[in-house]
Amino acid sequence: MVTAGGYFEEGALVGVLTTQPLGRVLDYKAPEGGCVEGAYVEVPLGPRRVMGVVWGPGEGKFDPAKVRSVTRVLDAAPMQEELRLFLTRAADYTLTPLPAMLRLATRAPGLGDSPMTRRIYRLGEAVPERRTDARARVLEVLRDHGGLAFTLGELSGLAGVTTSVIKGLVAQGAVLEEDAPRDLPYARLDPELAGQVLTADQALASEALRKAVASGTYGTTLLKGVTGSGKTEVYLEAVAECLARGRQALVLLPEIALTAGFLTRVEERFGARPAEWHSGVTVTERRRLWRMVGEGGAQLVVGARSALFLPFRDLGLIVVDEEHDTSYKQEDGVLYNARDMAVLRASILSAQVVLASATPSLETWVNAEAGKYTRLDLPSRFGVAELPVMRAIDMRMESLPANRWISPTLQRHVTARMERKEQSLLFLNRRGYAPVTICRACGYQIGCDHCDARMVEHRFLKRLVCHQCGETKPMPVACPSCGVEGKLAPVGPGVERLAEEVAAVFPAARVAVLSSDLFGSARALKEQIEAIAAGAADIIIGTQLVAKGHNFPYLTLVGVIDADLGLQGSDLRAAERTFQLMRQVAGRAGRAELPGEALLQTFQPEHPVIRAILSGDEEGFWRAEAAERKAAGVPPYGRMAGIILSSPDVAQVFDFGSELARRDGPLRAIGAVVFGPAPAPIARVRGRHRVRLLVKAEKGAPLQAALAQWVAQLRAPANLRVAIDIDPQSFL
Ligand code: ADP
Ligand code: ZN
Repeated sequence: MVTAGGYFEEGALVGVLTTQPLGRVLDYKAPEGGCVEGAYVEVPLGPRRVMGVVWGPGEGKFDPAKVRSVTRVLDAAPMQEELRLFLTRAADYTLTPLPAMLRLATRAPGLGDSPMTRRIYRLGEAVPERRTDARARVLEVLRDHGGLAFTLGELSGLAGVTTSVIKGLVAQGAVLEEDAPRDLPYARLDPELAGQVLTADQALASEALRKAVASGTYGTTLLKGVTGSGKTEVYLEAVAECLARGRQALVLLPEIALTAGFLTRVEERFGARPAEWHSGVTVTERRRLWRMVGEGGAQLVVGARSALFLPFRDLGLIVVDEEHDTSYKQEDGVLYNARDMAVLRASILSAQVVLASATPSLETWVNAEAGKYTRLDLPSRFGVAELPVMRAIDMRMESLPANRWISPTLQRHVTARMERKEQSLLFLNRRGYAPVTICRACGYQIGCDHCDARMVEHRFLKRLVCHQCGETKPMPVACPSCGVEGKLAPVGPGVERLAEEVAAVFPAARVAVLSSDLFGSARALKEQIEAIAAGAADIIIGTQLVAKGHNFPYLTLVGVIDADLGLQGSDLRAAERTFQLMRQVAGRAGRAELPGEALLQTFQPEHPVIRAILSGDEEGFWRAEAAERKAAGVPPYGRMAGIILSSPDVAQVFDFGSELARRDGPLRAIGAVVFGPAPAPIARVRGRHRVRLLVKAEKGAPLQAALAQWVAQLRAPANLRVAIDIDPQSFL
């Protein structure tokens, strides 16, 4: 346990945790001037210098003559005890080595650099003489990022121009070049500005959240309400309360494409833009944000899941928007669920968590039912907007020619919308042109060379793409197996193929395809979304990208091409996911004055999940789903861990898995059972063979400790990787 506020005089022994995979804290001597507990330091390690954090007093287990000195203390606010405790507990929970957790918390480059000025470029007043495309792009980037400054390299990269273009603009005064101190604080947000006038339901929820934040204690609230009911409006009130009390707030969003609209909303509400943290943010900005949250120079951070590991000075509120979203689970490297980790960090901080969703995860629903979380409901949409009417189209009754997926019934409804100048959305959760390419001569299906997965044709890119590893190759002329030419044929639809069908069936329609792979940049996607919202398309074809939060006022019909798609497969969350996705997608229709309708094409209209989606009886669906999970003893009523073993050597990985399964003593000791080894559903990725084991335990069982003991019995061969996934979300 780390004690608070410790100071070590020069020469005193300190324990330093580094980001290197050593698995333990090393002893060093405090440098000249001493150092405090939590200080970010640079220490010698062998011939190198590495970064670390003073974790506590040294253990004195090493020969004192050999203990080296801390090289220097970095100029950053020391890591608080709260964050050290959070990293330790998160490491214990996810069975991750502590150095890997520390890497998550120090993911901003140049942390060791001393503060100095840097040359930055900002938007100037003058209009350039000659307006070339390149010049226009530079000015557009600067305008787009409202007031942010860039280094020369960043600006030329973002605008895709040479640095001489920027220098030319500087000469004309259209771009300003100046030396600015690094890492300035962010503009102040004003929590006293007035928000919207809330409806009665919204006001009740807002009051409850404000009270919770004002209490200065830990608590988690599920804020449940249909899309458009004003959840964002309400949780911004909680943010206002938090900022007014001088504490910081963090809003996690699942999708970068969503942040743009959200940032504008925050600006309207608080008079300034919040700090942003995600992969699209430049290195300079990331470093600035990392330092500023530590010093209190950033009040509100809007970010992706990794923002949870930032060194906040005094974090009082974490909002997890769309809390059910699967992107909160990190699926490689450190396997953690940002929603659960938010609750953990808040409980250490005495902070509040708001989980916002129209379709919460079953875990959260159960926690609210059990009284662990408070639940607030916003029962209706804001204003006149009505929830869409939902109906099934029974595909057994429809006659469709081969390679067509839009039923005559759906076609009639789309046509009616076009006549009324309203928009229709055709939803198909499959990127690319066709999921399978088959040889009609020999039956061979084109697969990835490195993975056990079929390659998906992307006609737009003119290539085959592996959705597992990202490998691409051109579509071959001849079958790679039998050599016959001209017999390769697409099977099944992806959004690109659906677009072809739409063009054939509705020749007069203006069509827009929204799929994450079709846009080079977040900006291009944002522009397309804005154009659609302004009415620039009659028919929108989209993957699950469109299910999330975009507001299309003219959209009144959602047609789900294949409502059965997510119900296939043995995933324990298949029903829950389908239910959430269908309700989210349907929620896109009828947000403004026009009522909406959602039509689900299905071959199994009597399937309980489809029936629950159509009836709108959400509580009933969750109760039934919860009962089933309870009976099966699976999460959230039991505990699970996935063990994924991978190696280039298929025999080795199976042998290792079998040996682990045989030595299940530590697991049996806590009443846990191990299943497998079995080939993972995707049995080969990037040339590595993958084998899974699944451990099931009762809810209260000390699973992590037993797992640690269990895997420690065997030493994995050098090229065999062991990944442990606590509470797995995906079973691939
Ligand atoms: P949700 O987050 O639940 O999807 P939002 O907070 O985004 O809902 O609200 C949906 C839309 O309705 C937004 O455009 C929002 O500005 C508007 N809105 C919600 N509540 C109010 C209100 N009380 N007054 C004015 N506009 C509101
Ligand atoms: Zn592949």
